[in-house]
Amino acid sequence: MATPMIVELFKQLFGGPETNLFPAKYAPDSIIEFLEAVKRGDIKLIPPVETPPGFRGKIAYDREKCIGCRQCIRVCPAGAIEFIPDEKKVKIYVSRCTFCSQCNDICPVKCLSMSPEFLLADYDKYSDSLIVK
Ligand code: SF4
Ligand code: SF4
Repeated sequence: MATPMIVELFKQLFGGPETNLFPAKYAPDSIIEFLEAVKRGDIKLIPPVETPPGFRGKIAYDREKCIGCRQCIRVCPAGAIEFIPDEKKVKIYVSRCTFCSQCNDICPVKCLSMSPEFLLADYDKYSDSLIVK
């Protein structure tokens, strides 16, 4: 009788790959030229895998809802959130974020959330795409 371990072994041997080839099916010689070709529409990126429910990706912020209470700053273990006194709003540095979600949990008006976005690589850790405000 097949034990669960043998069943799992056969699944691993004959099943498809668990990884997703991304962004292309091959390693391009020049990633810069590859991305330029993507921009021109000559090459299509392989879409990334779908994220599961509860995935913690890039933080999202509903600025209008924020009441400026600073609770998120108090609990952030990474010092990733800055208060903007003039506006009584916050600014989040994604490059410092550890995706712990503690700020989401404590926010009294639920204006913070973890989005499914995970493609965050950038040359500049202070680029617009890595600062949420
Ligand atoms: S998810 Fe965690 S590390 Fe990221 S900003 Fe919120 S509290 Fe800070
Ligand atoms: S906890 Fe929520 S409401 Fe309070 S400052 Fe942070 S984001 Fe704004």
